[in-house]
Amino acid sequence: MTGERWRAVDDYVAERLLGRDEALAAALEANAAAGLPAIDVSPLQGKFLELLVRIAQARRLLEIGTLGGYSTISMARALPADGQLVTLEYEPHHAEVAAANIARAGVADKVRIVVGPAAASLPKLAAEEGEPFDLIFIDADKPNNRTYLDWAVKLSRPGTLIILDNVVRGGEVIEPDSADASIIGTRAAFDFIADHPRLSATALQTVGAKGWDGFAMMVVS
Ligand code: SAM
Repeated sequence: MTGERWRAVDDYVAERLLGRDEALAAALEANAAAGLPAIDVSPLQGKFLELLVRIAQARRLLEIGTLGGYSTISMARALPADGQLVTLEYEPHHAEVAAANIARAGVADKVRIVVGPAAASLPKLAAEEGEPFDLIFIDADKPNNRTYLDWAVKLSRPGTLIILDNVVRGGEVIEPDSADASIIGTRAAFDFIADHPRLSATALQTVGAKGWDGFAMMVVS
């Protein structure tokens, strides 16, 4: 009952505030047709990411975990004309589907998809010595969250906003003896954030179409 109510409220708010978004709806349809798991951010979460990009006036975005590009499209849309989003994806099939979705949404000129394990792509990205990123969204394999946060800080400047998704996991995050690698990775991420002298952070629990979860948000000093 509770889950149904959460979903119904999400549907109500999305209907009132978002309306139908053809490009994002087409992306979800293409993802399903291609057999991708439905683990993208929800429409309201995608809009939240879009607003964060606008609030931060971000020009350089990094995403870890592309899937079919739903969150990628949501964020890329908020970029200025000279903005760029680099998104890292392990699965070539996901990257292929995402590329088509991103092109259909009209933001391909702003998005670069890097295929491969993010832990290997991130040092290469750092070696390119480009400008630091203004906003970084981490939403990939949770056991590697600590590694991703470490690289995110290295690729940041003072003021960079980092968002780490799925940190509550139905409340499982408070289980210190969990054998689940995603919980272990998420708890390690919290330890990393808590101990890091350059990170000021919070985490918010969320309920909705994607169940009970939450995200951590931090600013680099
Ligand atoms: N951000 C996407 C969205 O909201 O539309 C959802 C991303 S999905 C939760 C996680 C993605 O991370 C999957 O596409 C998965 O293949 C990818 N992934 C898993 N392990 C990875 C790794 N080691 N490096 C890069 N991507 C990885």
